[in-house]
Amino acid sequence: MTDATASAGEKEAHRDFIRDIVAEDIASGKHKIVVTRFPPEPNGYLHIGHAKSICLNFGIAKEFGGRCHLRFDDTNPAKEEQEFIDSIQNDVRWLGFEWDALHHASDYFEQLYAWAEHLISNGKAYVDDQSADEMRANRGTLTEPGKESPFRNRSVEENLDLFRRMRAGEFAPGTRILRAKIDMASGNINLRDPALYRIIDAPHPRTGTTWKIYPSYDFAHGQSDAIEGITHSICTLEFEDHRPLYEWFLDNLPVPARPRQYEFARLNLTYTVLSKRTLTKLVQEKHVNGWDDPRMPTIAGIRRRGVPAAALRDFVSRIGVAKANSTVDFGMLEFSIREYLNQHAQRRMAVLDPLKVVIENWPEGKFEDLEAVNHPNDESAGKRTIRFGREIYVERDDFMEEPPKKFFRLSPGKEVRLRYAYFITCKDVVKDASGKVIELRCTYDPATKGGNAPDGRKVQATLHWVNAHDAVTADIRVYDHLFSRPDPGADGDVMADLNPNSMTVLSGAKVEPDLMKGDAGQAFQFERQGYFCRDRESTPDRPVFNRTVGLRDTFAKEVGKPAAKK
Ligand code: ATP
Ligand code: MG
Repeated sequence: MTDATASAGEKEAHRDFIRDIVAEDIASGKHKIVVTRFPPEPNGYLHIGHAKSICLNFGIAKEFGGRCHLRFDDTNPAKEEQEFIDSIQNDVRWLGFEWDALHHASDYFEQLYAWAEHLISNGKAYVDDQSADEMRANRGTLTEPGKESPFRNRSVEENLDLFRRMRAGEFAPGTRILRAKIDMASGNINLRDPALYRIIDAPHPRTGTTWKIYPSYDFAHGQSDAIEGITHSICTLEFEDHRPLYEWFLDNLPVPARPRQYEFARLNLTYTVLSKRTLTKLVQEKHVNGWDDPRMPTIAGIRRRGVPAAALRDFVSRIGVAKANSTVDFGMLEFSIREYLNQHAQRRMAVLDPLKVVIENWPEGKFEDLEAVNHPNDESAGKRTIRFGREIYVERDDFMEEPPKKFFRLSPGKEVRLRYAYFITCKDVVKDASGKVIELRCTYDPATKGGNAPDGRKVQATLHWVNAHDAVTADIRVYDHLFSRPDPGADGDVMADLNPNSMTVLSGAKVEPDLMKGDAGQAFQFERQGYFCRDRESTPDRPVFNRTVGLRDTFAKEVGKPAAKK
């Protein structure tokens, strides 16, 4: 494998506006060490958008010799679960990163509570008894200012008393909230007395039933950054309008450090939805088979589909980090996957739609071991032994009884090469009662062992095959986009855009027995077909393979036209 192409993406990128800022802050001495964090809310599995954020936060820490924390933003116990906490750690590690510290926003609940009282004591926060509807109605719009709450001017004493009783669980959820007292007329809606604490009656995975009130994202986030000494708090663009609030808290609280928030464009992908709410719905309503369904854009789904972590990192690095939102073509992801797998995946043979071939001049019961290379450009991948025999399978569409002019593969009277084996010539065609071709009768030329004729005669196609005696019968799951349009949900209902044909199962495929060895999830190139891996649910009794991605056209041309399948 050549180093130049091994991780072209990972090498060439690595310069963007955030890295420039970090480099400058280090050079100017503003910071001695860079500290970043990745702050997922454990209310779902991580997706490929999170992968971008992970590579950015962990990547910067690594490149600049700093630290990156994994911090669970576990401030809403109503939606958070241990399964998600576990999967997130697993996925970050799988992507190739290790956190320098593991934190939870819930570690800071006591401190955050004290800071809320601090704001109240300084006349900068108040308990509001308005209903959620009233608050919404009084918030105003982008063009109209909001209306001040009738509870806005409560005394410090009354606010402290009510807030303490909120904490003690004296009030029902939804009856009161704690709000910052900033400016109901602000042009920035985030500054119109934002919520600091809500009453939530749900056990928390870590703090149990200790707390009856929970801090808002905005109140918890920046303060957690300050507590941890985060220098660069990197988030997606939709938080740009929250930055003034982020800074208002830092200005008005005795925090130990002053982090800065920077925003970058989130990843959007064609044919893909990256909203956790929609992904949760897909799982709950069983449109997919769980969070790690290979059609899901989750890291777990992408992994199960056979994509190596390095290919995903390569993709993230190729798309770069920008300040303006855009949508990346799904083909870019496939490009990175193919590019990586073409270099790293070992080759095997598998026949997806088998047609039996009987080699008439090959003795019954005789088998011959042949050598096959595992990777054409990488000797270190070694060789394996495959067996040839009298009965083999080839791809059904590598045969045509009445071929058009440009069809170079098998047809009556035509000679082709079997990869790593011999030249064979089609002598006869066997059909069933309905006229369907069920078997080809061929002869082989013993002088062509290894794939070359001593007399120099040429064949125009090389076919992949498997030996009928040894082949394993498997189901192959071929995936298409989960959504049938590049911009799912553009007409309003995202579920209406689900692709009814996002998975096709080819049953009765015949694969090299070697593919049943080793770990599930390892990707192989099935020659002339694409990249596949054994599914984690595959068993010896019921082998199942996932198609990771198809082959690119140019490569297919080199080895003979692929059995085009869609
Ligand atoms: P929600 O807040 O609706 O649950 P989320 O996708 O923002 O969804 P978080 O767990 O809050 O989920 O995200 C963790 C981090 O990942 C945040 O810093 C967020 O900005 C970042 N992130 C989320 N989605 C993307 C995306 N599509 N591209 C890049 N970064 C993302
Ligand atoms: Mg979020």
